Amino acid sequence: MPAEPLAAAFVGFTELAPDGPIHIHADEQVKDVDEHVTYAGDRPVAWLLDNSDVDGRWCLVHATHLNAGEVSGLAQSGAVVGLCPTTEGNLGDGLFPFLEYLNAGGIWGVGSDSHVSVSPLEELRWLEYGQRLISRTRNIAAFDTGGSTGARLFADALAGGAEALGRPIGAIATGKRANLVVLDPEHPQLFGRSGDTLVDALIFTGNVNPVKHVLCGGRWVIRSGRHGAEDQIATANRTAMTRLIARPLKG
Ligand SMILES: [Zn+2]
Repeated sequence: MPAEPLAAAFVGFTELAPDGPIHIHADEQVKDVDEHVTYAGDRPVAWLLDNSDVDGRWCLVHATHLNAGEVSGLAQSGAVVGLCPTTEGNLGDGLFPFLEYLNAGGIWGVGSDSHVSVSPLEELRWLEYGQRLISRTRNIAAFDTGGSTGARLFADALAGGAEALGRPIGAIATGKRANLVVLDPEHPQLFGRSGDTLVDALIFTGNVNPVKHVLCGGRWVIRSGRHGAEDQIATANRTAMTRLIARPLKG
């Protein structure tokens, strides 16, 4: 099929959201790329960059299989890449060219495209670890030798996430939403640490949740590790799971 119908659809799509944000899943699997080449005559991200006004309103989720030209084109566009390392790992889909994208000045955030994990810290840890394993080097994201890898990961992900959502979040500043996480200073993995070292410990040590309180939009939703509606939520989850498990599978 010719690419014109696809191009026409995208014109309408961007007009629907003139101020964004626009999220699109692209390059998730090699098969996605191959099928797009067959359909439209070009790779998905290269095609998007050529046929749509990709800019800071856009978030390309996955973007796992970018080639060198797409890495620099996407980085220069100002769009955010929405990385989902635990999802890609769980599905065996591949590793994003993170170092090349960082060196090109690309903007990125993390998210999850499944419920296999919903921990932003685990996403950041596996983003870094995947790159270390494939390149057999360490401290991929650190700004310079001896710098904090965790601090860079955390700062970039906050800024990119805020841009991808188009919301005033991601920093403690006038005009931003009051979303705050208070860590437990007595937690064995965090005790005695501060600054960048604390962020490194937060991302790379252990699997126990060190969050003590959570303020969301100026309202406390977690106090001393407990959500106000925790018991009702747990009961509703058990009820839903019981119904789902009892339902016969179709097909
Ligand atoms: Zn996806």
